Amino acid sequence: MYERRTTRQVRVGRPPGPNVPVGGDAPISVQSMTTTKTADVEGTLAQIYALASAGCDIVRCTCNEEAAAEGLAQIVPRSPVPIIADIHFQYRLALAAMEAGVQGLRLNPGNIRKGEHIKLVASEAKDRGLPIRIGVNAGSLDPDIAEQFGGATPEALVASAQRELEYFGEVGFEDCKISVKASNVPTMINAYRLLSETVDYPLHLGVTEAGPPPAGLVKSTAGIGTLLSEGIGDTIRYSLTADPVEEARAGRTLLESLGLRERKGLDLIACPSCGRAEVDVIRVANDAMAALQDRNIPLQVAVMGCVVNGPGEAREADLGIAAGRGRGHLFVKGHVVRVVPEADMVEALVAEAERIMEEGIEAVIASADAGAEAEAEAARAELLAEQGVDVNHAGEKIERIRGIAEPTPVELRSS
Ligand code: SF4
Repeated sequence: MYERRTTRQVRVGRPPGPNVPVGGDAPISVQSMTTTKTADVEGTLAQIYALASAGCDIVRCTCNEEAAAEGLAQIVPRSPVPIIADIHFQYRLALAAMEAGVQGLRLNPGNIRKGEHIKLVASEAKDRGLPIRIGVNAGSLDPDIAEQFGGATPEALVASAQRELEYFGEVGFEDCKISVKASNVPTMINAYRLLSETVDYPLHLGVTEAGPPPAGLVKSTAGIGTLLSEGIGDTIRYSLTADPVEEARAGRTLLESLGLRERKGLDLIACPSCGRAEVDVIRVANDAMAALQDRNIPLQVAVMGCVVNGPGEAREADLGIAAGRGRGHLFVKGHVVRVVPEADMVEALVAEAERIMEEGIEAVIASADAGAEAEAEAARAELLAEQGVDVNHAGEKIERIRGIAEPTPVELRSS
C-alpha cells in the first residue's frame, strides 16, 4: 500500500523485561496514557493491565509530583508493558522518574526550557540507556518560537523539536523519538510531513486534544491514518476524552485495518514477574503459549506470578492463572473459579479455555468451585503477611527520589 519511511530504531525497555522496539522495521506500536493519579499504584496498574489487554504496547503515566515518581517505583516492576514518564516543567521529576526505573521519558520542550536542565536529563538518560520522546505540542509551544513563526505553524513545531535535538546533541544523546502534535489536523499532518523530511528519528503520531468520540476518533484517524498511509509514523496514540482503553482499541483497530498489525487470535499476556512471584512466570507463560497458540482460541489469557495482585491486575483478561503457595489460582474475568496444584497450571488453563469456548464466560463463572475465592484470599493474606508490602524494594528508591526531586532553596527562590 505504501513504502514506509526509513527511521532509526530505539528500544523502549530492555529484555528480559517488557520491551518494545520503535522505528526501523519494528511493527508500528500503540500507546496510551493512564488517567489515574500515578501515586494511586493499584488503580494505575489496573488501568495499565486493561490497556495491555486492549492491545496497547507502551503506556505513559504522568510524573507531575514527587508522589507520582514514588508511585512509578512501585508500578514499573509490576507492569506488563514498558512505562514512559510524562514530564512537564520540572526537570528534577525526570531524574526522579529515571531513578524509579521507567523505561523512557517524554519531555515537553515548551515548558522545560533551560538548556542546562535539558542536557542534564539527556546525559542521565544516556548513561541509563533510556530513550526520550521530544513531545512538541502546539498548545504549549515555546513562546519565543511561536513569536518567531507567527504562531504554532508546522515550521514552528519542527523548529521546537530541532532546538531540543541541538541540546541533546551537545551531550551526545541520540536515543529519541519525536512528536509534533496539534489539535488542528492539517497543521499536524503538515508538521509531521516536514519533520519526516528533516530528521530520521522515529516519529510518534497523534492529534492532541482530539476530544471525545466520535469527533475525537474521526480527527485522530484522519491525522494518523493519512500519515501512516504515506509511510510516516512509527508509534501512535489516540488522545481521546474517554477511557484510555478506547484509545488503545482505536489505535489497534486502525493499524489492523491498514494491514500494519496482525489481527489478534489468542492474546497471551503475562506479568513481567517481580519480587512477589511464586512461580517461574517466563516458563509458565511459554508453556501456556505453546499449549494454546495452535488451538484457535480467541481469548485474552493472563499468566500472573502471584495471587496477591494477579487476579486484580489482569481482571480484564478472559481467563488467567496466578501462582500462590504451590497452587495455581484460575480466574475468569477476575473471579477465582478453581485452585489447582502448581504442576497442573498449564493443563488446567487449557481445559478452562476450552470450557469457556464451549460454555461461555458467564457459565464458567457461575459454576466456580465453592471456596475457590476464599482459598485464593487466604493464600493472598498469607503471602502478604510473609512478604510484607514492599518486596520490590520500592521504599529504597522512594528514599532516593525524595533526595532528587526536592528543589534546592535557590531553585525555590527563583521559581
Ligand atoms: S509477581 Fe505479582 S505483583 Fe509481581 S508483577 Fe507478577 S502479578 Fe504483579
